[in-house]
Amino acid sequence: MFASRRLSQLVLCSTFIAGCLGYAWDAPVAGSCTNYYYSYDFGCNYAEAYYPCSYANQPFLGSLFECIGSYAKDEAEKIEGYNYIIFLATYGGYDYTLDDVYTMIDNSTKYMKTAEDAANLTIVNFPFAPDRETILWNRKIYYQMTKFAKIDTKWLGWGLIFFWVVVIACATVVNVNRRYLKIPVPRKVSQAVRKHLTYPSTVRYFPSLFPTRLHSIVICLFLIQTTLSSAIGYNFMLPNPYLTDKLFIMYVIQHRTGMFSLYMFPLLIFFSIRNNPLVYFSGLSYSDYMTYHKVTAIVMTIEALIHSIVWTAYVYVEGDAALLMEDAYWKWGVVATCLAGVMITHSLKLFRQYAYETFLFFHNVMGILFIAAIWMHLNDLGYRGFVWALLATWCLDRVARIFRICLSGGLQKMEIEMCDADVMKITFKKPRYMQYYPGSYLFISFLRPWYSAWQFHPFTTISSPVEDGDSLTLYVKVKKGITKSLSKLKFDENNKMTVRALVEGPYGSRVHSCDPEEEFIGIAGGLGISGVLPALFDYIDKIPSSAKVSMITASQDKNKLDSESTSVNTGSSDPTHNSSLFWIINDVRHLNWLNSTLNYLTENGCKVTVLLSKRNAEESTDASFVQTIKYSVRYADGRPDIGTLIESCLLTKIKNRLSFYTCGSDSFNDTMRDEIARKIEVGSNVELSHYAEAYVW
Ligand SMILES: Cc1cc2nc3c(=O)[nH]c(=O)nc-3n(C[C@H](O)[C@H](O)[C@H](O)COP(=O)(O)OP(=O)(O)OC[C@H]3O[C@@H](n4cnc5c(N)ncnc54)[C@H](O)[C@@H]3O)c2cc1C
Repeated sequence: MFASRRLSQLVLCSTFIAGCLGYAWDAPVAGSCTNYYYSYDFGCNYAEAYYPCSYANQPFLGSLFECIGSYAKDEAEKIEGYNYIIFLATYGGYDYTLDDVYTMIDNSTKYMKTAEDAANLTIVNFPFAPDRETILWNRKIYYQMTKFAKIDTKWLGWGLIFFWVVVIACATVVNVNRRYLKIPVPRKVSQAVRKHLTYPSTVRYFPSLFPTRLHSIVICLFLIQTTLSSAIGYNFMLPNPYLTDKLFIMYVIQHRTGMFSLYMFPLLIFFSIRNNPLVYFSGLSYSDYMTYHKVTAIVMTIEALIHSIVWTAYVYVEGDAALLMEDAYWKWGVVATCLAGVMITHSLKLFRQYAYETFLFFHNVMGILFIAAIWMHLNDLGYRGFVWALLATWCLDRVARIFRICLSGGLQKMEIEMCDADVMKITFKKPRYMQYYPGSYLFISFLRPWYSAWQFHPFTTISSPVEDGDSLTLYVKVKKGITKSLSKLKFDENNKMTVRALVEGPYGSRVHSCDPEEEFIGIAGGLGISGVLPALFDYIDKIPSSAKVSMITASQDKNKLDSESTSVNTGSSDPTHNSSLFWIINDVRHLNWLNSTLNYLTENGCKVTVLLSKRNAEESTDASFVQTIKYSVRYADGRPDIGTLIESCLLTKIKNRLSFYTCGSDSFNDTMRDEIARKIEVGSNVELSHYAEAYVW
């Protein structure tokens, strides 16, 4: 566990170190001089062999060094300028030293001419000193450009990264306080924040992009900052010595947007990796980070698209379009932009839901192609540090994942029991070095059928007191992919079989540990029960035995399927219970496989109520089984109304601090959040908290 966290921290460091290396340095005087001589042809083909030809061309280099030597502010800038030319020469494949530079200066001085001599020549074949007026003007513009590119764009770009640093830092402070410091927050403040910010959903139709109001505010602030950062800092002196005003404006826009798109790289990858150390510190869930991953990916793609369109328009206006299209950097830029667009489109929820693993496979393949395309695009432009940041983070995450699989003991033997047509119970021995905690989930790769081995599916881990203490349990709903294939395998007469599987984990942050001073209320829809049970077991574990009054007596009158009950009220207030669990199911057969667990909870002071949403399901339950039920089973009239359910929890509450733990479908969680937010009264002495587990991201 410790080692895998360490690896995660390494991922964090590499991102920032590699990000810093991404900046190519520059010297204003060298920039002004190279720009000045760019408009003269020293006999080199500017399109393809510009660097190999120009940086071996003695008249060109002699002119450059003369210009730098004459117009550098001081000795330091002069040396910086020479070094900059040495750096540019590496693009042509040359490895000059400062001594080489001084030798070239000595040679060229003998042949040095003036700008007038070079004027009107098609090809210049001698070194010449620049025109003083033009170079001073050029230098002024170059300072402005340097400020734009190296100061404004750079710091505005860092500002976009810093935005997320602040968001994560705030989350970390809240998390550390909640878990360790426990400095009390005024009740009114926490109630107002929950009611208006952290619980209510914003746009119900795009829950994966705007899950809660707080998410929406964070995302909107980021979009505002990105838009403003893209729009400010364009105070330039016009006209420009070499570009028309129109071209100049296009040039700076393409530069700013291209750079911002690169600044998204470290964020983009960092928010998407499984071994994100910030999950532990910030308390934000992986699905929160996935939301931010989607947002930064969209911003990156929009910036890249603007960059590509404006740069293409620039070259068309300039008249160099045909030449440009032959350039490798342009072709790779187009490939990268198209790939980013395709990746955004195929990540739509529609496609993810339809075939998640196929989506994931193509997303990874296209991600690798995208990195390769950007690498090629930046070949002559510098800034490859951003790609290094991305690559290093991605590779370290992969290494960390392999490491976690090894820590989990490699290949595991798992027992699968077919509970009913829709549900499988998977049990396996807890790997020696795996540290279980409530709220954790594992990625499992089942090796049957063998061709599914590349798929790793997340499942919530349960350490159940009704199972062998050394084992872990997963309850798995049969869907259409690997789970269906597993359910089709040959089971023995006890509906059991064993498979080999790779286990990767545990992942996820520890679920908020409910205090015995609080009342635990679990509400689960269907298989969402596996998301609520770990927190409930944890809570019951903390309740002193003397306070664990069995709920069997209290619910004896209900130990039958109460076909008359149509409401979802929770019954009368019962001060003997310490927690409540509402399990909403549409198939009474689910009781068969969770019966012993529900009975255990009832015996330990939890008021368990099963709400059946289908009336006709009663027929499928035999009478002897019904006799074993120690908890309450009620029929809801169709799907129970969540608002009424929460309302009745409030009416029968036994403590003033109620913690709701819920898990179900996307819409179930959204409704739950909204209803709890609605019930919070700012200033009241009743405190409501909500902890939701989601099985989608
Ligand atoms: C943190 C977390 C915990 C989960 N815990 C449980 C659990 O305890 N019990 C349970 O039954 N289900 C759980 N799920 C859902 C479970 O991962 C999917 O039902 C399972 O992967 C479906 O596999 P399939 O190939 O049969 O699905 P398919 O029929 O191919 O797809 C059904 C749906 O499952 C989801 N899904 C498929 N593969 C993945 C994947 N690799 N990663 C994320 N989502 C995927 C997609 O949303 C997809 O729409 C959990 C999901 C998450 C994210």
